Amino acid sequence: MVKMNCIVCGMGINEKNYNFNKEAFINSNSKEKIMYCPFCGVAIEYLIEDGQEIKYDRNKLNQNDLKIIDHAVKLEVFNGDFYKKASDMAKDENVKSMFKALSSIEYMHARIHKKIAGIKEIPALKDMDYSKYNTDEALLAAACQREKHAVEYYKKYKKEIHEENIVKIFDVLSRVEEEHIELTGE
Ligand SMILES: [Zn+2]
Repeated sequence: MVKMNCIVCGMGINEKNYNFNKEAFINSNSKEKIMYCPFCGVAIEYLIEDGQEIKYDRNKLNQNDLKIIDHAVKLEVFNGDFYKKASDMAKDENVKSMFKALSSIEYMHARIHKKIAGIKEIPALKDMDYSKYNTDEALLAAACQREKHAVEYYKKYKKEIHEENIVKIFDVLSRVEEEHIELTGE
């Protein structure tokens, strides 16, 4: 297997990790056929041999841009936290492991945004009351809603951002969330 780098999250993909988070994909990677970054979920076209992370010029960002990216960090941490909790709560083993994998992908998205905006600390969000999600169906429905919200967020706010490569990253991550809608919507 050729060693590749994901130019969105910066992780190196090799034969030890290509299958990480496999439960978060409709078609998982195999050694012969890599289709996604196992860490952030982006498609094969962003996995490049000796690839360098997408560069952006932070000087082009104004206060509003930074606010949008800061909110994107919070949105992804919010969803990562939800999936972590949902994975503890789910009864079905497959649903459990899917939530766990989704959690780690959403946290990676938060990490990507943090890096873009130069944010060091992880935002501490208020603890949520999850007690109303007392079945796997309820957890899946809540997950699907959150993914739809994330896609809408990226679509709406990418138009306001003044740096084209960051707009591209918003687009690419939004496509990952679109697959999550499909995964959680069944
Ligand atoms: Zn990646």
